[in-house]
Amino acid sequence: ACGLMWFRRDLRAHDNAALFHALKGCRQLHCVFVFDRAILDALPRRDRRVEFIRESLVALDAELRALAGQAGAGLIVRHATAAAEIPALAQALGAQAVFANHDYEPQAAERDARVRGALAEAGIALHTSKDQAVFERDELLTQAGKPYAVFTPYKNAWLGKVDAFYLKPYPVQRYGAALAPRPEGQRAGVPTLQALGFESTNLAELRMPTGAGGGQALAADFLERIDRYHETRDFPAVKGPSYLSVHLRFGTVSIRHLAGAAHRLAAEGSHGAAVWLGELIWRDFYFQILHHFPHVAQRSFKPGYDAIRWEHGKHADALFQAWCEGCTGYPLVDAAMAQLNQTGYMHNRLRMVVASFLCKDLGIDWRRGERYFAEHLNDYDLAANNGGWQWASSSGCDAQPWFRIFNPVSQSQKFDADGRFIRRYLPQLGRLPAGALHAPWLAMPVELAAAGVALGDSYPRPVVQHDAARAQTLARYAVVRKTL
Ligand code: FAD
Repeated sequence: ACGLMWFRRDLRAHDNAALFHALKGCRQLHCVFVFDRAILDALPRRDRRVEFIRESLVALDAELRALAGQAGAGLIVRHATAAAEIPALAQALGAQAVFANHDYEPQAAERDARVRGALAEAGIALHTSKDQAVFERDELLTQAGKPYAVFTPYKNAWLGKVDAFYLKPYPVQRYGAALAPRPEGQRAGVPTLQALGFESTNLAELRMPTGAGGGQALAADFLERIDRYHETRDFPAVKGPSYLSVHLRFGTVSIRHLAGAAHRLAAEGSHGAAVWLGELIWRDFYFQILHHFPHVAQRSFKPGYDAIRWEHGKHADALFQAWCEGCTGYPLVDAAMAQLNQTGYMHNRLRMVVASFLCKDLGIDWRRGERYFAEHLNDYDLAANNGGWQWASSSGCDAQPWFRIFNPVSQSQKFDADGRFIRRYLPQLGRLPAGALHAPWLAMPVELAAAGVALGDSYPRPVVQHDAARAQTLARYAVVRKTL
């Protein structure tokens, strides 16, 4: 039989569930990736993710050729609308089946349903597999048969069920010979960014490793320091986390490989590994929340929270703009937003701080922040991002209680005590002593002058006063009390 493997957010040719099933089931397998116009057309012309994907496809193409053991094999790359292109290509190639991995985002599910329908009309099957998560959809349910909406019991159920079966790699390499030579008329190679209508970004400057090789290198580096993860992960100036999120997002690493390694090390007594495994479980948790409660993509998980009246109008727009640009006058918030704007990454602690600041200091709807993150994060993932924003705004399942409001100054003192992170991203404050760096408006005028800081000029004054904002937020959130 002839088949077509459709790569989406699983850009690797090792330990890939759909690729394994496809190779096993087909005598001749073609592989395709579609730069989907339905997604790309809406993006700004400079987007690190498009560049990351393109580079990762070059690596995937090489990985596939190596797997096939022949130079003529490799990836077909198209720039088209995937929902129309996949059925057309499958027919043109004479494929009897198309293979892909599950995607839990509502728009992707809709696209896949359309592709399935079009393929069925042509008598072609669509086989999909679980690959992105360890457990998905209905694999973990409460005793009452309902989806989990609280993390700790979900995590316990996850840990109770997981075993070698769920974590073992798919031995794709055994079946590489089924990879077909690229058909006549299919141009070799991955299109350039320019051919896709995009310009290059600062990805190379950031030295962000791409492709499966990059993912493996980062994973190997992290596994060396995983034992200290629980002590280092909250400090943005420290190399504590794995930085693997973009690779998990695009599937250039295997979740089974990472969860398997963490699970094994945790069983051997590594506390750091156990804590990190917990983060991977949060990832599965939010995938299943999005699958079971797709309304979260637009509305609060807890409906009562949609009664909150957020700030609107010119003043709110100006505050939002200040937040986006990192000009709020709160150094930790501003440094975090600078990190996002300059690199497309933001440390987890800072994501919590800036999200809380937007909703609970500026009184702005979490959905506006969610959208900004969606546009700028390299690792943007609807399930995790929505989960994070709804956690911070308290509207989500198992969220931060609504009356808990981060103090942006004490968070700064606690997690960037010597100001190393702030100084890296806000060089204009670089000469302020640590004692003055977290709240420059409280610094002595001589201190500011000696450091060359002119408040309101070289660095903004705070756009809101935290204590007053806090009181306003408690009042704003009072409407939810009735719904609890
Ligand atoms: P590590 O600390 O090394 O964690 C390892 C992996 O675990 C991550 O790569 C990620 O896949 C997963 N993970 C960690 N924390 C979470 C979490 N809370 N929820 C789900 N998965 C998690 N993560 C994204 O991948 N994409 C997003 O769009 C995203 N948006 C967020 C928005 C907000 C407001 C918040 C508070 C968190 C968000 N997160 C998101 C979760 C988390 O901040 C990032 O996964 C993490 O910072 C990525 O860095 P890392 O790979 O070095 O993390």
